[in-house]
Amino acid sequence: MENCFVLIFSKDNKYSSNILLAGIEPKVKDYSIYLFQWDSDRSFIHEIVDIGRKCRRIVIGFTFMTPQLLIARDAVELLRKHLNNAIFVAGGPHATGDPLGTLTKLGFDLVVVGEGEETLAEVLNAVSSCDEFRVCGTAFIEDDRLIIKRRVKQVDLDHHAPFPYWRNRFNPIEIMRGCSSACHFCQVTYTFGMPRYRSVDSIARYSKLMVSKGLKDIRFIAPNSLGYGSPDGIKPGFEAIPHLLERLHNTIVENGGRIFFGTFPSEARPDSVSDDIVRVMKKYVSNDRVIIGVQSGSNKILKTIRRNHTVEDAVTAIQVLNRYGFAVDVDLIFGFPFEDADDLGDTLRFIQEVRKFNVRFHLHTFIPLPGTPYSDLNPKFLDSEMRIRIAKLVGLGKAYGEWHKQESIAKLIMELRSRGFIYSFKDVIKASRTYTC
Ligand code: SF4
Repeated sequence: MENCFVLIFSKDNKYSSNILLAGIEPKVKDYSIYLFQWDSDRSFIHEIVDIGRKCRRIVIGFTFMTPQLLIARDAVELLRKHLNNAIFVAGGPHATGDPLGTLTKLGFDLVVVGEGEETLAEVLNAVSSCDEFRVCGTAFIEDDRLIIKRRVKQVDLDHHAPFPYWRNRFNPIEIMRGCSSACHFCQVTYTFGMPRYRSVDSIARYSKLMVSKGLKDIRFIAPNSLGYGSPDGIKPGFEAIPHLLERLHNTIVENGGRIFFGTFPSEARPDSVSDDIVRVMKKYVSNDRVIIGVQSGSNKILKTIRRNHTVEDAVTAIQVLNRYGFAVDVDLIFGFPFEDADDLGDTLRFIQEVRKFNVRFHLHTFIPLPGTPYSDLNPKFLDSEMRIRIAKLVGLGKAYGEWHKQESIAKLIMELRSRGFIYSFKDVIKASRTYTC
């Protein structure tokens, strides 16, 4: 009888699931691996039960985001009724941010904390050889206490393919993981730690592979694409980015490939935009739009949330990008709990000041994400006057975004927190015993 690993993910986790699969599949021994995208495959529970009956041991991995936690809980409950020998493992930013709630309220046996590739491969190999599977990099409950074994060594992106190409599954290439900024509302630093990079050789190799498969538009995943190759992930790597773009140009453009850099699904910090780098980008990339994360037009808010850049940096970045012919999408977040009328006034003035440039505003609502210092705060929802102003901008084609849907997500998280499904950052720290390994 074979061992089985079932990975359950949603459309929103498609890229991270591919990246995880690319990391684990070459390393695990004696496993059949099955994938289920729960939001496109309604019968996934029945199919997994059927698979489970044929397996010697079965590990069921679930990667999910906070708003999906009740779906994860219900799936675990149902599957457990039919598969009493299954081991349920959770991963991703929610489980990493709130391992306590994930283990005690959602029914999982184990949480993979932070990066999954190496930890999950070790868990699976330990299960198949009947060894202790609560390996370094996991969290679990022991004697009524949360134990976190925090892995010190970071994943080297070059040790793994960026997608499981052997399954014909592709996604934008992750060129950078982690961030040194640790903005208080964002999970990136708290989940992945400090920045590191995929090498130019590796990026070129997999870009070439994508182009050879007919996937001509090469995009990248990075918390701050213009920080690529730099010591802190923020100040541009003056040699690294030209080296990367020139190499990609030589590798893929002559075969019909196109480079999309600094745009979806990555973005750039305003203080990473510089004349020299943008000039180089203009020479090599095919996108005519760059996304920059500004987040607020209030310097007071930027300081509080720990952005470490100013509104003036954002104005300069927009001007530089426009000068080289790039339109700019400006990310803004409304609803920080401490955002007052003066801050909103500053953001409106910022919008007014820069709307004469070639910009669009990408609007978001603050969401109190588990694992961040703001996990137990509540958003301040916009009043009707601000909603009318936003609606006008949207109507004029100057703004877009899922800010309205994110308000509902924030409300759902507040409700789940009050019902005890989510623990705050402080609760998790208080309840846990953490070991480094
Ligand atoms: S700079 Fe961006 S990725 Fe880094 S912590 Fe801040 S919001 Fe997150």
